[in-house]
Amino acid sequence: MYKLIDGKEVSAFIKNQVREEVEALKKQGKTVSLAVIIVGNNPASRVYVNNKKKACEATGIKSYEYALDENTSEQELLALIKELNENSEINGILCQLPLPKHIDEKKVIDAIAAEKDVDCFRAENVGKMWLGDYDFAACTPKGVMLLLEYYGIDVCGKNCVIIGRSNIVGKPMASLLIEKSATVTVCHSKTKNLSEFTRNAEVIIAAVGRPRFITADMVSDGAVVIDVGINRDENGKLCGDVDFESVKEKASYITPVPGGCGPMTIAVLMRNTLVAYHIANGK
Ligand code: NAP
Repeated sequence: MYKLIDGKEVSAFIKNQVREEVEALKKQGKTVSLAVIIVGNNPASRVYVNNKKKACEATGIKSYEYALDENTSEQELLALIKELNENSEINGILCQLPLPKHIDEKKVIDAIAAEKDVDCFRAENVGKMWLGDYDFAACTPKGVMLLLEYYGIDVCGKNCVIIGRSNIVGKPMASLLIEKSATVTVCHSKTKNLSEFTRNAEVIIAAVGRPRFITADMVSDGAVVIDVGINRDENGKLCGDVDFESVKEKASYITPVPGGCGPMTIAVLMRNTLVAYHIANGK
């Protein structure tokens, strides 16, 4: 019998912790704030930004939204980021990706001050994470670690298989699991005999971006299955990278989609914003 890992419950718990601290600071007349930049009219980006704003409201973090026109130039965007970097009232800055094609995403990420980089995208923050000496961890992988921790799933010495090697999920996920002494394998589209790896895994973390890609025959009995994927299936229905209905029968723990990793990403973003506040105020 599997146990459902409830990302809504755990994210509410994390956001509540943040809210308590933010409220205590408010009583001292201090404000924690996040600037969110969105360029253009990508509907998915709009949904993500709205969810981030809602989470700010729920935690008491002040949010500033900068909704820029699709035709905003790279120079204009960089100028705004410079202004926000210099504004001591702003603790965290995030620029919703993807950006329109005429804007160089790497330049934009690198323009955000490291101490305000609450997404943990900048090279020095990524490097610090790998060194195990960091302020911010990447939101989605950190969210996965908090889910595991909440349910008392210790990854120490466990055979953990990540499917996906992106900079925002797969790679930082490997770093955080290694930090907790997991034995980590990172698979990707060039991996041969993927099932051989996944069938040996005690913990599977799917970050592939393919609807219901991980099927029951790829999973061993009792495995912990974490589904990071957010996809639409052929009928437009939201689903993960894991075929939940069949895999749940073999898993010991499993995350649903929606309601698993998604809410955790935003909860960690709120936590990171609070960390950014403490950095700005000498911890
Ligand atoms: P991505 O950048 O497209 O990376 C996908 C990874 O999957 C790549 O490393 C790719 O390998 C690998 N892959 C693709 N096809 C494969 C196959 N047939 N066999 C093995 N590996 C394969 O995606 P991402 O940004 O990491 O996101 C992954 C999923 O997580 C998406 O569904 C995304 O929407 C979701 N996501 C969710 C959250 C959240 O908050 N829950 C946050 C971010 C992303 P190669 O490197 O070889 O191409």
